[in-house]
Amino acid sequence: MSEKKTQVKMLEEAFKQFNATSSELEKSYHLLKTEVRRLKKELRKSKREKEALREQAERNHRLAAVGEMAARTAHELRNPLGSIELFTSLLQKEISKTSNDPEKTAWAGHLLSAVKSMDHSITNLLLFTRKPRPVFKETNLRALISDLLGFAAQLFKQHRIEVFHKIDRRLENISCDEDLLRQVLLNLILNAIDAMPGGGALKISAHTAHDTPEEIVISLSDTGSGIAETALPQIFDPFFTTKNTGSGLGLSIAQNAVTAHQGRIQVENRNGCGAIFSIYLPKHREGQHAQQTQ
Ligand code: ADP
Repeated sequence: MSEKKTQVKMLEEAFKQFNATSSELEKSYHLLKTEVRRLKKELRKSKREKEALREQAERNHRLAAVGEMAARTAHELRNPLGSIELFTSLLQKEISKTSNDPEKTAWAGHLLSAVKSMDHSITNLLLFTRKPRPVFKETNLRALISDLLGFAAQLFKQHRIEVFHKIDRRLENISCDEDLLRQVLLNLILNAIDAMPGGGALKISAHTAHDTPEEIVISLSDTGSGIAETALPQIFDPFFTTKNTGSGLGLSIAQNAVTAHQGRIQVENRNGCGAIFSIYLPKHREGQHAQQTQ
């Protein structure tokens, strides 16, 4: 082979190598470019996340301050509200004793219901702003439920709701925080009333749970609207409401209070119509004395 030919061959080889290397380089360049683009995207995302976290922290801070303020206001409202309730009930007694005017007695009754409803909302607000710390004591569940049914009797009548209850006689003494459980049950009863604007039936039962005899189950079943399947996973979330004037706090408070009792609350739609809420509570608890004295 002539020298020229050899040089051409070498040149061709060099070109080939050059092309291969430059296509390798091009590939690496593209990979690098894609990687840089991905990293830039990630950087933007993490900047956005950081910003969102900062905003969330600010919002939480503001919420905590508003919560604190709401709790203080609620506390301040409690005393005058108690006086209004006391004097209205004295007035009601006086009216029915002296004038025997049923209309005026009814006015006083309306005032009393309004005050009780305000008191219930204030209690909800106070319970929402702090973690429930139950003070356990022996409580007569039958008496508690009868008391609540008496409390809401006027509302049942007004909304044409029939009430049935079946409370196991043996549940005289359960260990719970009576005030907390009262608020939980009242929230569920008021929700059931709201769900039956055209009247209906509310059944309350309390008995030993079939599958877990160490627990009692209190269930409330209504013949109302039931709960939309899409709403079911959210109804215990704070502020979730489908009502125009709802606060969305009732069920969240109920769940927190039941959990603080080492219990659980479940909901399901009834076949046909209405909803059933079931509260499972341990009959007795370990270390009860320790918790009582905390
Ligand atoms: P609020 O009563 O202020 O809306 P809750 O937390 O008590 O707040 O209830 C959240 C939502 O759960 C209600 O807005 C309603 O949509 C639904 N809900 C609760 N109880 C019932 C019930 N018995 N029947 C139908 N829906 C209910």
